[in-house]
Formats: sequence, structure tokens, C-alpha cells
Amino acid sequence: MLNPTRLAAARKRRGWTLTRLAAETGLSRVSLSSYENQHQDPAPQTLKTLADALGVKEAFLTADDLEEIPVESVSFRALSKMTARTRDRGLSSGRIAILINEWIEQRFTLPDPDVPSLTGRDPELAAQEVRARWGLGEQPIANMVHLLEAHGVRVFSLTDDTKDLDAFCLSWHGQPFILLSREKSGERRRFNAAHELGHLVLHGEDRVPNGPDAEAEANRFAAAFLMPRAGVLAQGLNNASVRQVIEAKKRWSVAAMAMAHRANELGLMTEWAYRTVCVDLSRLGYRRGEPYGIPHENSMLLTKVMQQLRDSHRGPTTIAEDLGLSPAEVQAYMMGLTPLLVGGSSGNRTAIREGHLRVVESR
Ligand SMILES: [Zn+2]
Repeated sequence: MLNPTRLAAARKRRGWTLTRLAAETGLSRVSLSSYENQHQDPAPQTLKTLADALGVKEAFLTADDLEEIPVESVSFRALSKMTARTRDRGLSSGRIAILINEWIEQRFTLPDPDVPSLTGRDPELAAQEVRARWGLGEQPIANMVHLLEAHGVRVFSLTDDTKDLDAFCLSWHGQPFILLSREKSGERRRFNAAHELGHLVLHGEDRVPNGPDAEAEANRFAAAFLMPRAGVLAQGLNNASVRQVIEAKKRWSVAAMAMAHRANELGLMTEWAYRTVCVDLSRLGYRRGEPYGIPHENSMLLTKVMQQLRDSHRGPTTIAEDLGLSPAEVQAYMMGLTPLLVGGSSGNRTAIREGHLRVVESR
């Protein structure tokens, strides 16, 4: 029979109100409300109508209860300005990422979470502490996604319809997740990943405070984590020229603007030198984007899982079938994170179509 928590989740995933679902299905709003509030069970044909409209299998709507993600456990940016629809869409997509992760965890052994909780610590010191604990020294981080995964953070992609959320993290019964947008430059996505790690480290296990202070702290953590103080100080960036800033940003794989900001924050540049560099970088196109930027980082974990599924002649379709989702929905959480999907990691093919998986499986 229909599970009301699942109907609500599938509807919110679409970003639909009950009124919209009524319009899409031709069912009355009163009936839909009674299905979601457990007052009534739909007839089998109605269940199929609902599943078709929502883009899920009937099995999705009749499976076990889906516990909702509490909004206070998610690091949404600008939550106060967010519409309920956007927020619910983000939460329900996070919930599906959790389902996909559970499917993987039942079949693969994955690293346990190892993210220190340093609530209330100064972001600069917290970044140093995480670096020390993870044995990173003062070296550049080769791949943020691999690093997070090695320390038990599950990384997924934001789906196209939630990409305006930029990135967010959440902790689900002690398991940290980070969802990243794949629209931005590789450098920007690395910074977003480090920013979300900052929330996980600084802002506790269960509740992530939202607001400008928490955002500023996560940004300071990200800058200090990607561009460690001692490593940058050793680089001779005193009142650096724009050319030196661009050289330095390549070493740390960060955006040029972020590099200049960090040099200024560490007292290496006068305000005047900093402003001059920013104007020059702007003129060279570094405010709009990242000229000659790095490619997006892959997920080691999802790539390995996909490789093994492919070797056993299965693909993401297996996950989709078991979870009652469409293959396109499952793929959307991995797009831009593994080259083993059509339109994988290069970021230049973003269209998701049904049937791509068969291409992957037959190779
Ligand atoms: Zn944030």
C-alpha cells in the first residue's frame, strides 16, 4: 500500500504543491491530502497514476518509511531567503542521495567517517588541525573529493533542478554527506567542497547554523584548508604581482581571486596592492570564471562502484530498479563525478537521457 512519507518525498522532490500534483494527475486535492496524511489508501490504478506523474516506480511509493532530513541539519546557504519549494526540493534530493548511499553500503565496504568535530574553534586553527590529523602537512591537496571520500564523507552531485543551491552538507545519523554543484569551475567546486567540510568540522554533528557568520567561518576554513598559512607564507608573495598570484593559484588549485584574497588575509599584500591585483584579475576574466581552469575532480568511490557494477554487467540501472527510481534520477547524483557515465566528469555533456546506461553497460 501507499506509504504517505514516500508520496510526500516524491512530490517535494518534484518541487510540487498538492495543488500542482492534483493538476498533473487529475486527482482531487482532497484525495491527495488524505493519501499523504494516512487517512485513505489509493486504488491500484491511482497508485500507478501517482507514480507515473512523479517519475518514480510504484515500488518507490510503497516501500518503507522515509524519515525526513531535519532542515536544521543541512548547511543551506541563504536559508532565510530560500522558498519552501527550493528548500524541500533540496532536502528530498538529499534524502535520495542517502538512499543511493545505503544501497552502495549494503554491497561495498566504504571508509568510516573520520571528520573531527571542532565546534567553536577558530576556522584557521581548525583547518590546521584537520590537516594535521589527516597527515597533509603544508602540501597542496591533489583532489578534494578523493580526500573527503578517504575520510568517510560521501560526495554526490546536486541534480540539475537543485543546482541553484550551490552545495550543501548534512550529517545523517553520524554519516557526513556533501552535495556539490557541477556547474562551476573545477577550482570553485574544490572551494565549495572545502567550505562544506568547514561546516561539518565547525558546526557540529546535528545542527548546522545558517546565516552570514556560519558562512564566513566556512569560507575562512576553506581558504585555510586549501591554502595553508605556512605553505603560502613560504611562497614569497609579498605584494605579489598578478602574474605571481596566477602562478600561486595553480600550485594550490584554487581560483585566482581566492588566492589573492588569501595573500591579503595573511598580511602579504597591502590593501592597495590587493585592489590592484583584483582589478587586473577582473580585466583578465578571473571574476567571471577561471581561464585555463582545472577539470572537475572525480569521485574515486562512485567510479569504483560503477566499475564493479559494470564488470558484473550491471549498471546504475540496478540501483534505480532496486530503489524504484528512474535511471536518470540515479545518474543525476553521480554526474560530473565519475567518467563511467556518459557525460561523466568532463562537465561538457550535461544532458541526462534515459538509455545512457545501456551504452555504459555494453562497452
Ligand atoms: Zn555554507
